[in-house]
Amino acid sequence: MREKLLEICDRWDIELTEQVPLASHTTFHIGGAADYWAEISSEQGLAQLVQFCRETGMPYFVMGRGSNILAADEGFRGIILHIGSRFSNMEWKTPHTLKCEAGAMLIRAAKSAEEHGQTGMEGLSGIPGSIGGALFMNAGAYGYEMSQIVSSCTYLDPKGEIHMRKASQLDLGHRHSWFMDHPDCIILTVTMQLEAGDPAEITAQMQDFLQRRSDKQPLDLPSAGSTFKRPAGSYASKLIDECGLKGLTVGGAQVSEKHAGFVVNTGDATAADVLALCREVRDRVKKETGYLLEMEPVLLGDIELGA
Ligand SMILES: Cc1cc2nc3c(=O)[nH]c(=O)nc-3n(C[C@H](O)[C@H](O)[C@H](O)COP(=O)(O)OP(=O)(O)OC[C@H]3O[C@@H](n4cnc5c(N)ncnc54)[C@H](O)[C@@H]3O)c2cc1C
Repeated sequence: MREKLLEICDRWDIELTEQVPLASHTTFHIGGAADYWAEISSEQGLAQLVQFCRETGMPYFVMGRGSNILAADEGFRGIILHIGSRFSNMEWKTPHTLKCEAGAMLIRAAKSAEEHGQTGMEGLSGIPGSIGGALFMNAGAYGYEMSQIVSSCTYLDPKGEIHMRKASQLDLGHRHSWFMDHPDCIILTVTMQLEAGDPAEITAQMQDFLQRRSDKQPLDLPSAGSTFKRPAGSYASKLIDECGLKGLTVGGAQVSEKHAGFVVNTGDATAADVLALCREVRDRVKKETGYLLEMEPVLLGDIELGA
C-alpha cells in the first residue's frame, strides 16, 4: 500500500512525509503524529489521492491552516491532505470578483482586497485560516462573515468529480456550512464578490479590527481561537466570565485570563487537558446559566468531548 502511495505522490508532484507531528501544524500546538502528510499542489493530484484512499480504506482528513483544530495526543492513523501554500493561487476575475484556491490565507485575500480598494473583508482580515477552512466554518468577526461575500465555490466529491455550488446552496449559518454535513467533499476554489470602497476607510477599518484583536485576545499564546460557539441569545465568553471561570486550569490548558472565550495552551497542554477543561467549563456554565455550550474547534483523531 505504501509503495502505491509513494508512486501516486511522485507522479502528481505531491510532497509526502511520514510521522508528522500535528502539534507543528496546528495553532494550538497540540497533537501526536499523523502517519502521512501530503502537501497538495493540484486538483488532479488531490483526486488521485482521494481515489487511493477509497480503494484502500486509508482514512484521510483535510487540513487547511490548522487554526480551528484540536488534534488527538495519539495523532492520526491515516493521511492528512494538506491544502496549504502549494494550492493557494488568487486571481481577480473582475474588478470586484476574487477567486482563490482553497489553501490561500484569508489574511492574504483581505490584504489583496484592501490593495484593490474593495470592501467586504475588513473584519475577516485577522482570522488566521485558509479560504477553504473559512468557507467550511463560515468564519466571521465584527459583523463580517464569509456568507456575505462568497458567490460560489468548486469542490471535489468522494468519487473524484468536480462540482460547482452557489452560495445559496451552501447552507451558510453561524459557524456552519453545507460542507460540515458532507465531510467527504473537499473545497477547491472559492469565488468572492466584493464592492468598491474608499481605500482610506478600508485600511482604517482593518487596522482598527486588528488593534481590537490584539487588545482583547491572548494572541501571545497558542489557541484555536474561540473555544465555544455562540449560543443563541448570549455569548460564550460572557457566560464563562460570569461563572468566574477565567484562569481555570487543567494541566497545561487554561481559560484565558485575557478573554474567557479562549482556551490557551500555556506550554505543555495535551488534547486530554483541553477536553477535560472544556467539559468542566461546559458543565459549570450549564449548571449556573442553563446555556449548553458547544465546542467550535474540529476534533481530529480518535477523541471526543464526551457527555
Ligand atoms: C488566534 C485565532 C483567532 C481566530 N479568530 C477567529 C474569528 O475571529 N472568527 C472565526 O470564525 N474564526 C476564528 N478563528 C478560527 C479559525 O481561524 C477559523 O475557523 C478558520 O476559518 C479555519 O481555517 P483553517 O484553514 O485553519 O481550517 P482548519 O483548522 O485547518 O480546518 C477546520 C475545518 O475545516 C475543514 N477544511 C479546511 N480546509 C478545507 C477544504 N479545503 N475543504 C474541506 N474542508 C476543509 C477541516 O477538515 C476542518 O474540519 C481564530 C483562530 C485563532 C487561532
